[in-house]
Amino acid sequence: MSVSPLTRISAQSGCAFTLAAGQRLDIVDPQGRQVADLAIFARADVRERFSAGRTLDYNEKLYLSVGDVLYSNRSSQLLEIEIDEVGRHDYLLSPCSRRMFELLRDQAGHPSCHANLSAALGPFGIDQDDVDSAFNVFMNVAVSLDGTIAIRPPLSKAGDRIGLRALTDVVIGLTACSSEQTNAGSCKPVDYRICD
Ligand SMILES: [Zn+2]
Repeated sequence: MSVSPLTRISAQSGCAFTLAAGQRLDIVDPQGRQVADLAIFARADVRERFSAGRTLDYNEKLYLSVGDVLYSNRSSQLLEIEIDEVGRHDYLLSPCSRRMFELLRDQAGHPSCHANLSAALGPFGIDQDDVDSAFNVFMNVAVSLDGTIAIRPPLSKAGDRIGLRALTDVVIGLTACSSEQTNAGSCKPVDYRICD
């Protein structure tokens, strides 16, 4: 198996790339307590994309880990979690957006995962309106029995990793999340690599 070196996504930025069926994407938290938003589209037709609702339907749980599969809006299997050194990720919340920072935090012009994903995915023919649900790697969202949710600091420590195997050819958008609140007070980089 060939393993490429780690590529760094600097704090509050994002990137996009393709992943062929059978390749594994490793995402590493180099400093600890940092979220990476993962957007997934089918390469054959980017109108097909990750669906949080379908994924919840088929997995019947809020917290996904090794052996669990991320599904598309057409109920196809996109990625399977193969390695998970943290065990806490979120897929309820949409990527943070410029508008979200205005509405919830009264912060204008704040960097956001939605803007970073939209900019990176644009060259693949993906419109910003199609950047919606994502698998938020290392994001720690606590769900109470009464249905309320709370964003907690990520449980990831420096060097912790998740590995996801592509089950079909996909276009990936990946960020180092821009929200201070989500990342234990400070925004940090994220590393990734593709393994054949
Ligand atoms: Zn974010």
